[in-house]
Amino acid sequence: MRIVFVSAEIAPWSKTGGLGDVCGALPRALARRGHRVMTVAPRYKAYADAWETPVRARYHLFGQWHEVGFFHCLRDGVDHVFVEHMAFERPGIYGNDRGAWSDNLFRFALLSRAAFDAALSVPVEGGTFGQDVVFHANDWHAALVPVYLKALYQNVGLFPNAGCVLGLHNLGHHGTSARSEFDGLDLAQRWWPTVDYDGNLNVLKGGIVAADKLVAVSPTYAREIQSGLGFGLDGLLHFRRADLHGVLNGIDDTWDPTTDPHIAAHFTADDLSGKATCKKALQAELGLPQRPRTPLIGLIARLDHQKGIDLVMEVMPWLMSQDVQVAMLGSGGAQYEQFFRDSQRLWPNRVRGVVGFNEKLAHRIEAGADLFLMPSRFEPCGLNQLYSMRYGTIPVVHATGGLADTVETVDPAADRGTGWAFRRFDAEAFAEAIGWALLTYRKYPEAWKAIQQRGMRRDLSWERRAAEYERIYAAAVTH
Ligand code: ADP
Repeated sequence: MRIVFVSAEIAPWSKTGGLGDVCGALPRALARRGHRVMTVAPRYKAYADAWETPVRARYHLFGQWHEVGFFHCLRDGVDHVFVEHMAFERPGIYGNDRGAWSDNLFRFALLSRAAFDAALSVPVEGGTFGQDVVFHANDWHAALVPVYLKALYQNVGLFPNAGCVLGLHNLGHHGTSARSEFDGLDLAQRWWPTVDYDGNLNVLKGGIVAADKLVAVSPTYAREIQSGLGFGLDGLLHFRRADLHGVLNGIDDTWDPTTDPHIAAHFTADDLSGKATCKKALQAELGLPQRPRTPLIGLIARLDHQKGIDLVMEVMPWLMSQDVQVAMLGSGGAQYEQFFRDSQRLWPNRVRGVVGFNEKLAHRIEAGADLFLMPSRFEPCGLNQLYSMRYGTIPVVHATGGLADTVETVDPAADRGTGWAFRRFDAEAFAEAIGWALLTYRKYPEAWKAIQQRGMRRDLSWERRAAEYERIYAAAVTH
């Protein structure tokens, strides 16, 4: 198959969260299985490893002609295409401290249009990708791809055999604008009902209507977004349930404690001694007392309402009475960043709250911490709990979405479980789950080690997931 990924983020070139990781890793896994895979993403800045191609294209959007360029590189068997336009070249992918860029609809419409020319014209080994492709569009930023496929291309006999899968990584962002913006999109008026939501333009809704298949990033999230967590699109998603699949994200060798270049020592499920070295190194790096038996609790997140940081704020005073250390890393909401700073100031020997985006430190926290907190209100899949399990760091999570699908609560009587998943979303339930984890860590080190090993030995690879995607792609083109 020929598969064209369209995404606002492709790691390692661009990433603010899990979307970037997934759109970096899944294409590689599909290429390893013998498919031709292309990714199309904005060129947010000059990338040293991508070269300009002779291809250029012009689109009429928002009343003007806009010309884009196409850069290319081949890495790990995947053709990566970067769309060049001045509107992409800004310090933040979606916005800055003062909010989202006001022209995001234009920027991502431009990306969506460019995806078709990337497939048609960008030279790759053996020619071009051509028209017989499956598009895998991701989140609202690429949700115009299925709409344009039907409205501008298949309408005139182009891409006749192409299909489009829409990946749903987060229903919290729909790409909504006033109705008047619709006129800028180069779509005939008869497409208005497709993107109309209560009289406003809703790009994600248009994508959900027009895509051949929909994939949510976990089976539980695929159910939840039909009944309560769809941010208003629940009914439509329920209507499309026969085409809505849930496929868990995997993790790749970027996150592997046996090879990770960012951590102080490597370790395996059979020999965890390197993990103690990583803990010591993390305590030293963060300026925390080097105490090997004091539980070190990690947290890494985009500081968004979604992530349930308010529960962490509520339990923090209690947690500080428990003789633990806490290492937090994140950026986003001002009140949460302030909480990081305040906690560090109040408990300087126990808490580090690092504000910022720091990929290497994220690896070192995963490797050095004993526990990992993820009390998300909702979580489409979640990657940090998977990384935690891979690194022998026991996750304490809210049982929602992908967290419910991947973290099984410890049952000491049955030798089962890889962490603690609490059901009621409140501070009491969260503290109780942390309490169980701390008790187990302190009193039952053998049981703790068994929990670590079970998590580390789980098959979290992309290979199995890629096989599920293959079946969905095949169904999308015969739709
Ligand atoms: P989401 O996609 O909602 O942000 P995920 O758990 O799926 O949540 O993925 C988060 C990804 O972003 C992980 O790779 C995580 O390590 C990374 N990440 C989030 N915040 C930071 C940060 N401040 N510094 C480094 N990495 C971060």
